[in-house]
Amino acid sequence: MTNTSHFPEIPETAQEVHLLRYPSGVPAPDDFSIVDVPVLKPLDGEVLIENIWMSVDPYMRGRMSPRKSYIPPFALNAPMEGHAVGRVIASRDKRFTEGDLVTSMTGWRSHALLERDYLHPLPDTPDIPEQAFLGPLGMPGMTAWVGLNKIARYQAGETVFVSAAAGAVGSVACQLAKAKGCRVIGSTGNADKADWLKNTIGIDSVINYRETDDLSAALDDAAPHGIDVYYENVGGPHLEAALDHININGRIAVCGMISVYNDREKATGPRNLFRLTAQRARMEGFIVSDHWSSYPEFVREGVDLVRSGALTWRETVYEGLNKAPDAFIGLFDGKNTGKMLVKLAA
Ligand code: NDP
Repeated sequence: MTNTSHFPEIPETAQEVHLLRYPSGVPAPDDFSIVDVPVLKPLDGEVLIENIWMSVDPYMRGRMSPRKSYIPPFALNAPMEGHAVGRVIASRDKRFTEGDLVTSMTGWRSHALLERDYLHPLPDTPDIPEQAFLGPLGMPGMTAWVGLNKIARYQAGETVFVSAAAGAVGSVACQLAKAKGCRVIGSTGNADKADWLKNTIGIDSVINYRETDDLSAALDDAAPHGIDVYYENVGGPHLEAALDHININGRIAVCGMISVYNDREKATGPRNLFRLTAQRARMEGFIVSDHWSSYPEFVREGVDLVRSGALTWRETVYEGLNKAPDAFIGLFDGKNTGKMLVKLAA
């Protein structure tokens, strides 16, 4: 084992979460394992970080499958990846010093040894908690911004319907649309989240999809003049209902479809796709990483919105790396309001 005695803060061992098998259906806690590994000392150009926060995200379910997709599967019996905020505890690169806060893709582990190019300093915004850069000002917030600006090209005065509206992406999408001057309808499956959306976020109408067996009828009431933009996070009956109500020249930004991620067989497609033709509507998928060069523009706008009070958030926090699998699994039955996070260190 490497001698770590030059760096008193460096522990002998770190912990990582490994994926043991590709889950079938909804992942279970025993698909994961917590593994102790030795901590290595940085060499020239390397930086050792202790992670403070890590993110769990629905897209990770796609990486827990051997199927080919836009991002490779997680390797089995190896640390998984994901966004994390960490603190530098030893640096052999002059751009980073001990105590610096950084973001990286080294989630699912307590410590990580990285080459400098894989680390990004946090923006200098001491008035904003660091974990916001995993949520409203990080990848999820950026996803909301890309979907509305670049894919849906939303305009003031339009009606925007957002599914999974109380989640990390959806809650930012709702607030961006409100700040733009849109009429906003959101869906969620939980009464407390519905209350937050209506009374704190201030959207115009909320549909609790668990309290109706006819989403299309619920949208009739919420959007009597139809919807111009559907921000799609869920799929299934949500998409059919949105297609039923899409206006002429409407746009559907297909961000995700969490309702099908654990399906063992392909779901039946929407039965009303012809509405796209009748309404001259456009439906377009996107992956946020293709737009990453716009992240500085998004952060500038996002920080301004936070400071003006137009962008707020909630987070659901699980404590400790051993709770990371539960936090991840909890995404699929709505255990989170806003961003789902795991706190790893003080
Ligand atoms: P969320 O914070 O929204 O968490 C997931 C939420 O989805 C849950 O809290 C739950 O809310 C809802 N949900 C879970 N299962 C179902 C279901 N079967 N039917 C309806 N709702 C369900 O996650 P994110 O904000 O991180 O992600 C939202 C979407 O955005 C996902 O589809 C994700 O894959 C996608 N995404 C896409 C990206 C891209 O680049 N295209 C990047 C990042 C995310 P409730 O209690 O309200 O049901």
